[in-house]
Amino acid sequence: MQTVKTVAFHTLGCKLNFSETSSISRSMEQDGFIKNGFDEVADVYVINTCAVTESAEKECRQIVRRIQRTNPEGLVVVIGCYAQIKPKEIAEIPGVDLVLGAAEKFNISKYIHEISKGDSTKICSCDIEDVTGFNVSYSIHDRTRTFLKLQDGCDYNCSFAPFH
Ligand code: SF4
Repeated sequence: MQTVKTVAFHTLGCKLNFSETSSISRSMEQDGFIKNGFDEVADVYVINTCAVTESAEKECRQIVRRIQRTNPEGLVVVIGCYAQIKPKEIAEIPGVDLVLGAAEKFNISKYIHEISKGDSTKICSCDIEDVTGFNVSYSIHDRTRTFLKLQDGCDYNCSFAPFH
């Protein structure tokens, strides 16, 4: 088992993703990870993707290449809406180690401890219809306003409740 200490996040898309990244990073810090900046060397890099843009895959590839230039040994984990919709396409991007779906991303620490760099890419994702749990997410300190997630998944009409 690999000892993982540092994690860095890159978030694409809307406020939903920013609030989820914020919640996931807090839970990983509680699990013992130390959060680094995305341009720093880290043991794990998490890319929280958006599926709306037509260039989602290209964007994801570019970010993975950027990670590989910073730290070729860093574990690359892809989560978010594009990971839920096209997990196999993402798994084929060289350098990606783990793809997590909408339900699985909230257990990211557990999945990370099950893999090592050099293993074949792992996909853990169920159909969105089979996602029964709802994970409350909120961003805090990352942006000037705080956002609370009200629903999972993207209907291109994302719901948020800004609170002050
Ligand atoms: S909820 Fe929609 S807009 Fe937001 S990150 Fe996901 S695909 Fe993109």
